[in-house]
Amino acid sequence: MSEETALMTQGLKKSYGKVRALRGVDLEVQRGEIFGYLGPNGAGKTTTIRCLLDLIRPDGGTVRVLGMDPQADPVAVQAHTGYLPGELHLDPNMTVEGALRYLNALRGNKADWDFVRQLTERLDLPLEPPIKNLSHGNKQKVGVVQALMHRPELLLLDEPTLGLDPLMQREVLALLREAKADGATVFFSSHIMSEVEAVAERVAIIRKGVVVEVAEPATLIKRALRRANVRFKQPVDIGPLANVPGVTVLSQDDGTSVLLQVEGEMDELIKVLAAFPVSDFETERPSLEEIFLAYYEDDQKEE
Ligand code: ATP
Repeated sequence: MSEETALMTQGLKKSYGKVRALRGVDLEVQRGEIFGYLGPNGAGKTTTIRCLLDLIRPDGGTVRVLGMDPQADPVAVQAHTGYLPGELHLDPNMTVEGALRYLNALRGNKADWDFVRQLTERLDLPLEPPIKNLSHGNKQKVGVVQALMHRPELLLLDEPTLGLDPLMQREVLALLREAKADGATVFFSSHIMSEVEAVAERVAIIRKGVVVEVAEPATLIKRALRRANVRFKQPVDIGPLANVPGVTVLSQDDGTSVLLQVEGEMDELIKVLAAFPVSDFETERPSLEEIFLAYYEDDQKEE
């Protein structure tokens, strides 16, 4: 681990009774990085984040956060970290402003209130209503604001865009980029490939308590299979399409439409299609599940 490492886990293990939530998670995130932690429901994302803050004790493995051992000094780690839990529990009778001031006081009043106002305005979060009257989305925004408001060195965010509408999702991703520009390290979990791709420089994929891949999002997408559905104005001979490297014909109609599977870049296919009378062209992004499946197919081939 170097000085540049913001967080690191080695062989992190955690079971809940018989459920082996983490089976030896290895992660290394550099300072100043935006790092996405991607995985389906139940993969172990929340458990990992909780272990990073010593909110739960792992059964084995090593954890270092900003050079510190969270088990030895959880308070110091938490003081330098902005944390968005999966579910933030707040006094339902407090107003939004009251809750934010309370959370700020717990952190030694480090937040600059002008910055808090900027955050709430950008996220369109009213300060007056009591927490109990907030929609899910607005509660989530309170969580995001409290994590960011004291401009921490490290942000640990469990599904930061959960329950937000697309406009607000974009705003939160913009806030993460700005935090990075200010020098922060951002580690966030998600199960939405597109948002991770939009903001993360690297991503780790966790499945069943094991990190199965660490890569740049573009590399993952490139490696994954995509589907392209092409319709033609009149029947055509699709022979030249089947010859494009990386392209497999999955099905075809009477020459007026074809479903293709494309491995890697679309560039070659699009160049070849330029010579065809195309009336419609749709591509399907691979889902996270399909990307996982692609990994497992690779595993099986290797075996
Ligand atoms: P999600 O995307 O659904 O939030 P996750 O990737 O964050 O999922 P975890 O919440 O870390 O996954 O859960 C990992 C596994 O541990 C799951 O099988 C879950 O059911 C189990 N688990 C989590 N917390 C507990 C708990 N307190 N008691 C028992 N099992 C738990």
